[in-house]
Amino acid sequence: MQEPQLLHEEKVFKDPVHRYVHVREKLIWDLIDSPEFQRLRRVRQLGTSYLTFHGGEHSRFNHSLGVYEIMRRILETFEGRAQLSREEKLLCMCAALLHDVGHGPFSHSFEKVFRFHHEDWTRAIITGETKINQILRQMGDDFPQKVSDVIAKTHDNKLIISLISSQIDADRMDYLLRDAYYTGVNYGNFDIERILRVMRPHEDGVVIKASGMHAVEDYIMSRYQMYWQVYFHPVTRSAEVVLRKIFKRAQELYKEGYPFAIEPKNFLPFFDGKIKLSDYLALDESVVYFYMHQWRMESDQILADLCARFLDRNLLQYVEFNPMQFKIAEEIRQLFRGAGIDTDYYVEVDSTSDLPYDFYRPGKDQERIPIMLLMPNGELTELSRKSEIVESICGKRRFDYKLYYPEDTLNELPVEVAMKIRERLGVVMSDA
Ligand code: ZN
Repeated sequence: MQEPQLLHEEKVFKDPVHRYVHVREKLIWDLIDSPEFQRLRRVRQLGTSYLTFHGGEHSRFNHSLGVYEIMRRILETFEGRAQLSREEKLLCMCAALLHDVGHGPFSHSFEKVFRFHHEDWTRAIITGETKINQILRQMGDDFPQKVSDVIAKTHDNKLIISLISSQIDADRMDYLLRDAYYTGVNYGNFDIERILRVMRPHEDGVVIKASGMHAVEDYIMSRYQMYWQVYFHPVTRSAEVVLRKIFKRAQELYKEGYPFAIEPKNFLPFFDGKIKLSDYLALDESVVYFYMHQWRMESDQILADLCARFLDRNLLQYVEFNPMQFKIAEEIRQLFRGAGIDTDYYVEVDSTSDLPYDFYRPGKDQERIPIMLLMPNGELTELSRKSEIVESICGKRRFDYKLYYPEDTLNELPVEVAMKIRERLGVVMSDA
């Protein structure tokens, strides 16, 4: 292993959330400079949210630097408190910086249609033939694998894993603050300085000094609010539905041998399901926009219309939906279909859910590592046992269903059909 080098002078990035991002390690500086990391400038952090909150244009690049900076500060707090070697500290910082490097354009919609997980690409970028891999190898041949293991939560050191992914970690703290800042909403704010000051390493994880409980309550409530007010916003989800339909339509046309005016070269490996790392890295949001502009002029009416809808933000309308009303949803589909509208592309039930905080429930599908408070007598207590606010939302999964449909087409349908559809939509709504 080569001794990690320091830059001869500290470098700083100006950051609106943390004010400055500080870089001392040459390794970190080189990783930021790699083409795979620079690509994150061209992938938005919040996907289609900018169509709802116009400020939400920030990139995965911003967020990744922010997570790195929070990690760097946590390690500072831990100085003299945790037994972390120089290599382990670098491992923490690299994993923080690279944890989202495998995100593609409009990740969630893209992954759903083409059936892959960005986590697998993160692993492939870190351990495969990339500049990032070359840089990490300077720390030893097994160093890329260690970084990948931390991100995949399979590394032996549970303390390091919990700093990147637990119910209070560097990733979440950055995205809540950053997404709140850029979208301009008021909910996401909490006192991160305070939380960083009361975080303590404890055996296999991080605990919070009891005096910092209210700052952590605030953080949990911020998260709860951000999910429902920003991340799951129905208009953002409408844009995602349209986007998914665009990818689906393009793929179907390709499989049918449809003659595209311009061959969608960047998409072919995705359509065929044979994606190489280089194909994946060549795709970013600017490429997706290029094809949307092309497809908007295609002779296929559905593809052209969906692309125009996305680009011009003429999205699908929605109503609250009770999933028990699936029969009425089917009637609505039939009415649209009868009027010549392809409901595979224009009518969709979208569901989402969130569990804001939970304590450890062995055997549950998603076991959560609880947030533990360090009491003045040295004992540990799980957060929801001390905080009534947290207790009130603990373990409660909240669901949300929306039925999306093309409201604007109703004016073009025969009056009696449109009336019938409106009446059925009213039933769905009043029952939700
Ligand atoms: Zn992240």
